Amino acid sequence: MSFYAAAYDTEAVYPWWEKGERSHRENGFSYTPERIDEFLAGVRSVAEAHLQREAPASFFLVAKLLKLAGPELRSILDHPLFDIQCHTFTHPDLIGLDEDEAALRYELVDAKNLIEDTFGRPVIGLTAPGGYTHGLTGYPRILEFMWDTGYRYLRSVGTGPNRTMPAPLNQPFWYTQDGFPNLLEIPSHAWHDNILTGQPGVVRWPPALPWGYPGEMPDNAQGVYEAYAPGIDYCSEHDLLYYMPIFHPWSIYRIDKQAGQIALLLDHARQKMDMASCMHIYQHILDNRALAAEELVLD
Ligand SMILES: [Zn+2]
Repeated sequence: MSFYAAAYDTEAVYPWWEKGERSHRENGFSYTPERIDEFLAGVRSVAEAHLQREAPASFFLVAKLLKLAGPELRSILDHPLFDIQCHTFTHPDLIGLDEDEAALRYELVDAKNLIEDTFGRPVIGLTAPGGYTHGLTGYPRILEFMWDTGYRYLRSVGTGPNRTMPAPLNQPFWYTQDGFPNLLEIPSHAWHDNILTGQPGVVRWPPALPWGYPGEMPDNAQGVYEAYAPGIDYCSEHDLLYYMPIFHPWSIYRIDKQAGQIALLLDHARQKMDMASCMHIYQHILDNRALAAEELVLD
């Protein structure tokens, strides 16, 4: 049976539709008190959809948010159903930091330490901001840095050719060719929900997924659900190891305050898939190494 892997890039609101607020933005994200409240409401609605269904999930946190709303995030996410991992400190382009060890230390080590201190659990997974076509293959310096500081799995493959969206159904691989045979890549799939619902981004044509693109931009939970749902049927029918759509609590919340698109996807997925967090996927592959390739194989 295939897994439905629920993973959320838990970052501040990226108000692409607003022209103002520039002075409170960093890397495009807004950190005003109002936007932090909105961010927390998004995380709460997603967590609630999972808790109601007892469905596990991974939340990859931008650590800067723990400085602004640490107790609130802990009260929402500190639950055995939830896997808590890292999405860097400030959401930079990691490959752009390849030669900047101090910046890598801040984004990867300081962020990991802060999340571990806040939640009292080890952090071993990282989602690279934005995602890349080939993940971090070919960047042994960053991989070595990650390995040495205790990371064991990455989600860094998250776009199609030339960093287009959506991301193909790439399957997991070990970074053996780069010299890290026990560091696992768990690629993400399909649309980035923020791009699907209007944030400017480069979309792949012809379609990168084995099902069609929506005829119109979805603006409600049902529409977003329908853009992702064929992946549940496709991955289970083709016996792929897992399906892991790309979602952001702030963007989910902008479309539906109750995270109805997540509720619909979880209800659909549980009919034909096992429900998993990224930690489950990692441990499952650790138990049977051959489930992942020894090198990147693009779908
Ligand atoms: Zn992100």
